[in-house]
Amino acid sequence: MIENLVIIGSGPAGYTAAIYAGRAQLKPVVFEGFAASGVPGGQLMTTTEVENFPGFPEGIQGPKLMQRMRQQALRWGAQLITDDVVAADFQQRPFLVIAAEQVVRTHAVIISTGATAKRLHLPGEETFWNNGISACAICDGANPLFQSAEVAVVGGGDSAAEEALYLTKYARKVHLLVRRDRLRASKTMQDRLFNHPQIDIHWNCIPLSAHGDEVLRRILVQEVLTGTVSELPVSGLFYAIGHTPNTQLFQGQLLLDQAGYIQTGGKSTATNIPGVWAAGDVQDHHYRQAITAAGTGCMAALEAERWLAEQQSFLSFNVA
Ligand SMILES: Cc1cc2nc3c(=O)[nH]c(=O)nc-3n(C[C@H](O)[C@H](O)[C@H](O)COP(=O)(O)OP(=O)(O)OC[C@H]3O[C@@H](n4cnc5c(N)ncnc54)[C@H](O)[C@@H]3O)c2cc1C
Repeated sequence: MIENLVIIGSGPAGYTAAIYAGRAQLKPVVFEGFAASGVPGGQLMTTTEVENFPGFPEGIQGPKLMQRMRQQALRWGAQLITDDVVAADFQQRPFLVIAAEQVVRTHAVIISTGATAKRLHLPGEETFWNNGISACAICDGANPLFQSAEVAVVGGGDSAAEEALYLTKYARKVHLLVRRDRLRASKTMQDRLFNHPQIDIHWNCIPLSAHGDEVLRRILVQEVLTGTVSELPVSGLFYAIGHTPNTQLFQGQLLLDQAGYIQTGGKSTATNIPGVWAAGDVQDHHYRQAITAAGTGCMAALEAERWLAEQQSFLSFNVA
């Protein structure tokens, strides 16, 4: 049997695409993932309170939100398979999507495999992840833990600069820990950092370990030129050292940018191969939010539906 549409990934982008494609009676097959590059449900499964997803004025736990998206995808007829895709062949039509347990032939594919925030794997990191340590200031900055507190941001690029500036809305003081003696951030961002009274830049400085009780209370940092170790009394430690898009499977077939993100065309989610779309963090290194991932998941499903309708005269469809 040839499927109409296979969706790879089950974060907000994948489930939203599944809801739209299901409602369009495409009977989408969703590979939710199992262990490769995340867990079924995606990045929000690893967080607690999500406070900025519209429709939940009191906030909602990340896993609960993903469970509800999953239920909604099931309600509209998506077939969910909890398995990792291990290879895909877009050179032949129908496309081949190969998972650990099965091979599926499909006319169209939406890739929504997300991205993984890079971590430093410091001693104490696991203990304080979500209890002071985070990889997303926009997601977690408003947490009462950081209100009028001191926090640290690790990184030297535009993202680190943006996160540091954003955190000044909540924290009393933001320590920016830069591994070298210069920033990679744009000149404009650098000027904003240098002129901000709440931001202290620590040059040639790396974090060593995280400490506290139920929540983070302090970190040890090292001046790399002298080896001097000192303590910073911070309640927050934000990693802004980049993300790895989960695109290893598609290398050599799809156009990727220098950082490995799938390139999509303009306002569309289309990739360089007709019949293949990409949605969510796997193609977005800029916004990286659940709502933008869901938005592009919707776009990809609508684009897939229209494209499949145009092909209708010469493809055999799997109808309900
Ligand atoms: C700790 C944390 C807290 C966050 N908090 C917020 C917040 O409060 N608000 C907000 O808007 N955003 C938040 N974000 C960001 C948000 O989670 C992401 O922007 C969003 O999840 C991206 O959705 P996605 O669908 O693109 O990918 P992801 O959520 O990354 O999901 C990717 C999916 O692809 C699957 N997958 C990967 N490889 C394969 C494969 N080979 N085969 C099959 N499946 C595969 C994975 O299992 C996963 O299900 C947070 C992120 C983190 C890490």
